[in-house]
Amino acid sequence: MSFDNLGLHAALTRAVSEAGYAEPTDVQRAAIGPALQGRDLTVAARTGSGKTAAFILPALEAVRAAREAAGPRGGASGAGRGPRVLVLTPTRELALQVAKATLTYGRHVPGLRVATVVGGVPYGAQLKALRGPLDVLIATPGRLIDHLGSGKAELEHLQMLVLDEADRMLDMGFIEDIQHIAEATPQTRQTLMFSATFGGHVGKLASRLLRSPQHIDVASHTDTHENIEQRLHWVDDHQHKNALLDHILTERSVDQALVFTSTQRDADWLADRLAELGHAVAALHGGMPQGRRNRVLQALRSRQLRVLVATDVAARGIDVPTISHVINYGLPMKAEDYVHRIGRTGRAGRSGLAVTLAERRDASQIHRIQHYTTQRIAAATIAGLEPRRAEPKPGMPTREGPSRSDARRPGPGGKPAWGKPGMRGGRKPAARAFPA
Ligand code: AMP
Repeated sequence: MSFDNLGLHAALTRAVSEAGYAEPTDVQRAAIGPALQGRDLTVAARTGSGKTAAFILPALEAVRAAREAAGPRGGASGAGRGPRVLVLTPTRELALQVAKATLTYGRHVPGLRVATVVGGVPYGAQLKALRGPLDVLIATPGRLIDHLGSGKAELEHLQMLVLDEADRMLDMGFIEDIQHIAEATPQTRQTLMFSATFGGHVGKLASRLLRSPQHIDVASHTDTHENIEQRLHWVDDHQHKNALLDHILTERSVDQALVFTSTQRDADWLADRLAELGHAVAALHGGMPQGRRNRVLQALRSRQLRVLVATDVAARGIDVPTISHVINYGLPMKAEDYVHRIGRTGRAGRSGLAVTLAERRDASQIHRIQHYTTQRIAAATIAGLEPRRAEPKPGMPTREGPSRSDARRPGPGGKPAWGKPGMRGGRKPAARAFPA
């Protein structure tokens, strides 16, 4: 099936084809048709599935059709200045990513007006954008609430509300903000809700905000992530963990690596440590000013950085296809975050490797992750860096993870070598540290 059969206008299919996409992904195939027919949708889809285009293309179609109906003097939104489409995202990074996709897919929609309203940046430019006519507004809930409160944002002409990564927005405590925002929009709006899961509060919110929705489930958390190889290294202690990380980061197969830590402090500390070792590395976390975060992401995209050390929230929405490795240096607090983390690699049809470095005290969290994904993460070792202690007893996974070809199981005589100088990895990192 090609994009031409989905019912999209030629202005949109042309932009999609110019972006280099020949065929719709599963989520695009399943969601675009019903969305174009005006259905409310709940879509269970993981990041990396192409979900952004699955809602932005129907949204742009709505904008395009409404403009056509309003005629050449109809202005950006015809009926008024507020947006026709509102996309709510949990983080600034994801909002900017969605805005970029909107401009890519909407490049042949004449005079398309897109604005982002996110926290952590000055109000000036946002106020200016909100004053003019607007087609698509992409916002994080907190900052939009500010603008609604001051009367600067108007949502009474809204046709479509999209909740992207709804589970994450609820995790971040945005439930009341989302409800408040929804109340400021017309009852007649169409609502599309995207989330990794629809259990618990997410399901309840869906039943409050959506009208007879069609449920689409293309990629749930129990996906096998076929293009992402997952490995688990048991580590004895901190020193062993660092030795494994250093070894992995010097492997030739690492194009770009995203290393996750549990805390902002650890992210800063580890980025400093890796910079001292000569890596082109930077930290990314919510405690950094937005300008710096943007510069770091830009440096990652332009390959000035080879390694990014990040916390969960900051890494949401990172879409850099050249990330070949995700390394869990600190385990995620929640099992869902594991799925979000590994989804940062293996994007846009490439393959990726997700490595988890777990201490024995992390065994119950590993168990929870395996239970959540219903897959076993196969334990691996690196020759010369095997753990001294035996692997903790496995949990109760229901499916085997993919087998590995280049990682070895501990041999009977395998001796740990991470304490010995000169044994900590092959190639020396070539690049310099990213300047602050
Ligand atoms: P998303 O899940 O929306 O974050 O998209 C993941 C990645 O897939 C992004 O880099 C998109 O540009 C890319 N992508 C979106 N649609 C397609 C498609 N039909 N074919 C190939 N790649 C796509």
